[in-house]
Amino acid sequence: MRTYGCQMNVHDSERLSGLLEDAGYVRAAEGSTPDLVVFNTCAVRENADNRLYGNLGHLRPAKDSHPGMQIAVGGCLAQKDRGEIVRRAPWVDVVFGTHNIDSLPALLERSRIEREAQVEIKEALETFPSTLPSRRDSSYSAWVAISVGCNNTCTFCIVPALRGKERDRRPGDVLAEVRALVADGVTEVTLLGQNVNAYGVEFGDRQAFAKLLRACGEIEGLERVRFTSPHPRDFTDDVIEAMAETPNVMPQLHMPLQSGSSRILKAMRRSYRQERFLSIVHKVREAMPEAALTTDIIVGFPGETEEDFAETLHVVEQSRFAQAFTFQYSKRPGTPAAELDGQLPKEVVQQRYERLIELQNRISLEENQRLLGRAVEVLVAEGAGRKDRETPGRASGRAPDNRLVHFPVPEGPEAPRPGDLATVTVSYAAPHHLVAEQPPTEVRRTRAGEAWAARNGQAATGPGVLLGMPTVGAPESQPAAQDGCCSAS
Ligand code: SF4
Repeated sequence: MRTYGCQMNVHDSERLSGLLEDAGYVRAAEGSTPDLVVFNTCAVRENADNRLYGNLGHLRPAKDSHPGMQIAVGGCLAQKDRGEIVRRAPWVDVVFGTHNIDSLPALLERSRIEREAQVEIKEALETFPSTLPSRRDSSYSAWVAISVGCNNTCTFCIVPALRGKERDRRPGDVLAEVRALVADGVTEVTLLGQNVNAYGVEFGDRQAFAKLLRACGEIEGLERVRFTSPHPRDFTDDVIEAMAETPNVMPQLHMPLQSGSSRILKAMRRSYRQERFLSIVHKVREAMPEAALTTDIIVGFPGETEEDFAETLHVVEQSRFAQAFTFQYSKRPGTPAAELDGQLPKEVVQQRYERLIELQNRISLEENQRLLGRAVEVLVAEGAGRKDRETPGRASGRAPDNRLVHFPVPEGPEAPRPGDLATVTVSYAAPHHLVAEQPPTEVRRTRAGEAWAARNGQAATGPGVLLGMPTVGAPESQPAAQDGCCSAS
């Protein structure tokens, strides 16, 4: 399983793996030639299709020398390119879209029997992916989709074209899934949707998202609730109140700004303006002074002037984000913005991008330095720190506000396991992480840690997550990069 793009794809890939395992497939051993390769694609980048066809080309010799091997392509690029994929790569066996991931096992079977490529793309969602079987990457942290699709029409975004109108899951179904996960040892869930705080629009309850957060607060054993991503347009005070008043909803908010210029926001067809964004930031800070805010920003949207860019810098200064995921605008085929006049020269975009990064790095460092000397409880994560595996005696995880923290651990059975909670005192701050130089003062051994230990002995390596963008993995490594669009609002 090769996954590209956003958290929604990561979530779908967990379902695809679960479906395939239910159908009798088993994970191929490391280094062996698999009988089946599934690409779950992303359409966000301008050259996403070149990359896919390059990968398919590389697989061709393996397929030729391995009779019976099947290749399936799903996800957003498949939804967009449809039959074009088998025209350009006739050795592909199955093409399926974003609305019918549940069809994959049947399509593979049909292609095998009929010895013919199967292309099946649906225009509307048939089965909510979350109701399908799943093989999760993490034993202690899980994505839970509450909605798919988006009713907005941001001009840079391909989501409405490829994922369709927003479809909401019933709150009872969401909560049943969360309870089942917790019973399985999960202690952290991330509620997932393209625009989470529009949740409820389909069943007519404007306060449904705040109610869902509060209901998660009632679930015994659920330590941490996060969500991604809200849209500033739909951000209502009841959500801020629910966040502040529900102890297991973490003091963290990822809210995509995209641009600080009201003129550019209008051109992006994002219906809030600078003042509204800043007023939400202000209210969140008042209600939760410890909250860490993160955002997505697109630099160099068509027509962006130096004055517009200065407005973005102004909002960044005012908002004091802990992190910003910054992207240089690039044309996404199929989006209205790709046709707009005023596309900017690469050098101008690059230069603004570097200025923005410089400013944000300074703010990230200053915000992290405010944590020096503080004790934080870290949910120990597997693979959150890139060097953890090569550095014996070091572990990493996320603080409640989702900051990445590295710290030393005693070796042996005393060491906290992924899923356990360790309290450490921050002694060093860098722009993108914190360090505690002393071992934890307290370790809470959790059911999640037990679940990890039980699973770790048996588990093969998880599905590969190959991304053309910053890290996306199991939810503990989020806020994942959004590329300013897919899976973010
Ligand atoms: S950027 Fe977000 S809000 Fe806008 S259309 Fe895309 S998914 Fe919807």
